[in-house]
Amino acid sequence: MPIVYRAANMVDAQLVLDELKAAGLSARISGQYLSGAVGEIPPNEAISVWVDSDRQYTLARQVVTEFEASQRTGGAEKPCHGCGEMLAPQFGKCWNCGAWQSVEP
Ligand SMILES: [Zn+2]
Repeated sequence: MPIVYRAANMVDAQLVLDELKAAGLSARISGQYLSGAVGEIPPNEAISVWVDSDRQYTLARQVVTEFEASQRTGGAEKPCHGCGEMLAPQFGKCWNCGAWQSVEP
């Protein structure tokens, strides 16, 4: 069972797990029960995402690489469909005109 990702926190680990499952891989997280032991184990060693077989490793790494790239950029800004204001992707609602933005995968 190869490790494909070492997560800094549970949120990251869960996001990667969701991406891997969306790609049709069977993956799991180890280390989520160790949160009570923080201080004993370096955090980025404590949480790992695994795939179930070596055959899935290459695809899993592609998914992780894309995930890491998207984390770095945070996604592109998009124009509001109501007023055209450029909005960062984390905004669900336009701060300028109040229009709700459609959430795209
Ligand atoms: Zn707007």
